[in-house]
Amino acid sequence: MTTSLPIVTPGPPEAPGGALRAGRPPAHLADLDLAARRAAMAALGEPAYRAGQLSAHYFGRFVRDPAAMTDLPRAVRERIAGTLLPTLLTAVGERTCDGGATRKAVWRLHDGSLVESVLMGYPDRVTACVSSQAGCGMACPFCATGQLGLTRNLSTAEIVDQVVHLAGVAAAGIGPGLPRRLSHVVFMGMGEPLANYARVVAAVRRLVAPPPEGLGLSQRHITVSTVGLVPAMRQLAAEDLPVTLALSLHAPDDDLRDELVPVNQRWKVADVLDAAWGYAAATGRRVSIEYAMIRDVNDQPWRADLLGRLLTGRLAHVNLIPLNPTPGSRWDASPKPVEREFVRRLRAAGVTVTVRDTRGREIDGACGQLAAAAREEATWPELEGTQR
Ligand code: SAH
Repeated sequence: MTTSLPIVTPGPPEAPGGALRAGRPPAHLADLDLAARRAAMAALGEPAYRAGQLSAHYFGRFVRDPAAMTDLPRAVRERIAGTLLPTLLTAVGERTCDGGATRKAVWRLHDGSLVESVLMGYPDRVTACVSSQAGCGMACPFCATGQLGLTRNLSTAEIVDQVVHLAGVAAAGIGPGLPRRLSHVVFMGMGEPLANYARVVAAVRRLVAPPPEGLGLSQRHITVSTVGLVPAMRQLAAEDLPVTLALSLHAPDDDLRDELVPVNQRWKVADVLDAAWGYAAATGRRVSIEYAMIRDVNDQPWRADLLGRLLTGRLAHVNLIPLNPTPGSRWDASPKPVEREFVRRLRAAGVTVTVRDTRGREIDGACGQLAAAAREEATWPELEGTQR
């Protein structure tokens, strides 16, 4: 099988309030940095400082409703909010489990595409898992999103708006003893973030910019996960944006990785690990090596030993993910004793390992289970089912 890779395809910047090009999401405040928002405000004939006021509502208080913007003159509220805060995401469903601590939101985009985001509350942190594309073009056979194919890249604001929505949900309280402040963001929802490079990097900049320009999250609390698009990994290392990089390795040998992560046919295990170590060297940050444990596929002791040899002495951490079942897949998770032996061998090689929880499994919200478009008719009775 050959792969064709849509890597790094930044679109031209769009003027807010400008003509909506067919198929493109409306331009939104979160597409712009603060200087560009001030210019946009001036273009609307308003004082530039209103950019800060509007931004403070959106990023600081998660307010989008003009009626709630009482510090703005009534006459200008509708106009500037209508222009700079168009509706990007319409909620079409929410599922919760863990007593409300885990929530999956399904959003319809302006063109009818569906994407999902997941909010996970823990005693010490609240994490948003966001989508960077509608569908995904990477075709990993064990991932539900990978079976959908790619519909399109999300815009910067479509990515940021998922986080801002979830920050609002967290602020309203998602359960006793859980923090109200969203603290972590992982780009582990639908899509391959580094295949939508420019928009994802811009979204990260909005997330870390201090309020009112952005959400003021810590860079250390943002994780970008990739199948291993080597040129984009190298580009990210040079961005001066030291987020945590997660590399979806899933196999230590090219024979198996060619099958599990088809992009490996283009960039081999040695190449992606070399790019990962380059990232670690440039940022000083430990790379997270993701490894889905698939029974009798990639969980053999010899593969643990080989993985251990590849990672010994490196700035790396292994995150094992028990495979989450996806519809129609012939694979399941490794048995616990096999998983424990895998962990033991990696630790014996001096590698740090954690096993990820399977949060959200029962709401199809766990890793690899996000496939809203495919489930549209099947399990979302609240969808009208007419929009696609
Ligand atoms: N495209 C990016 C980010 C999305 S997925 C990437 O591949 O890294 C986030 C993680 O979930 C990836 O490590 C992915 O390989 C993993 N994953 C996908 N399907 C899974 C499944 N069915 N069970 C467990 N993990 C899965």
